[in-house]
Amino acid sequence: MSCPHQPIESSLDRWHECHWHLHQMEGNYHEPDAFRYALNSFIRAIADVPELLIKNLERHESVRRAIKPKLKELQATTLFSTLRLKRNFIVHQGMLEVDSQGSVRAMEGTKVKISFPFRVEPWESSDEAYERYKQVCRTDKFWRGIGPDCDSSPAIWRTWMIPQFPNRDLLDVAFEAWKLVGELLSATVTEFGGDPLNLTMPCRHDPELVRLKRYSQREFFLSVDGIDLDEKARKWQEGRVK
Ligand SMILES: [Zn+2]
Repeated sequence: MSCPHQPIESSLDRWHECHWHLHQMEGNYHEPDAFRYALNSFIRAIADVPELLIKNLERHESVRRAIKPKLKELQATTLFSTLRLKRNFIVHQGMLEVDSQGSVRAMEGTKVKISFPFRVEPWESSDEAYERYKQVCRTDKFWRGIGPDCDSSPAIWRTWMIPQFPNRDLLDVAFEAWKLVGELLSATVTEFGGDPLNLTMPCRHDPELVRLKRYSQREFFLSVDGIDLDEKARKWQEGRVK
């Protein structure tokens, strides 16, 4: 028996490439240019899978006919048709505009103690936004008041979006697109007599954790308030021993 993956090998390979780009988006989430490059690559790769698949199936008429309704269904989804338009824009016109929203947080362990909106510009890395935030805390009592205390540490939270999917983080959009295309490929492999593909991506990182960048409590106190927490703890300990 022949391998059910072999006829559509190049489509599957492109889909695996999308998986890799999604991890690049995760890994570069707090760096605007690197994130945008990974997003561009993801969109270009995912949008081309259906065309590749049609090419792969040129000599497999019965399978092509069997999956055609599913292909049409995928292409008709708002998600996929929008990504397709974006792909054409990136390839033929230029830079994709992405929007960024953010907040500052005080974290107690893994718990969010305080979250307050703080503009994180789309061209700005989270580290740069954090430096700006610390500067505001040095000069403005309100901001310092909602900042970290002795029990909490600072963090920047951000999310990337495009206007066509307002309020939807691009990591979630990308994962949904990967899954939709995966369903089409899985149906095709099944038509060739193979097992369905695994569409869970267990190696995906928790998007909420990816969106959060945490910083040192000690460094914050030292650079904003001029207080060394280690020194304070040592003195307290000494005082207690005496
Ligand atoms: Zn993975």
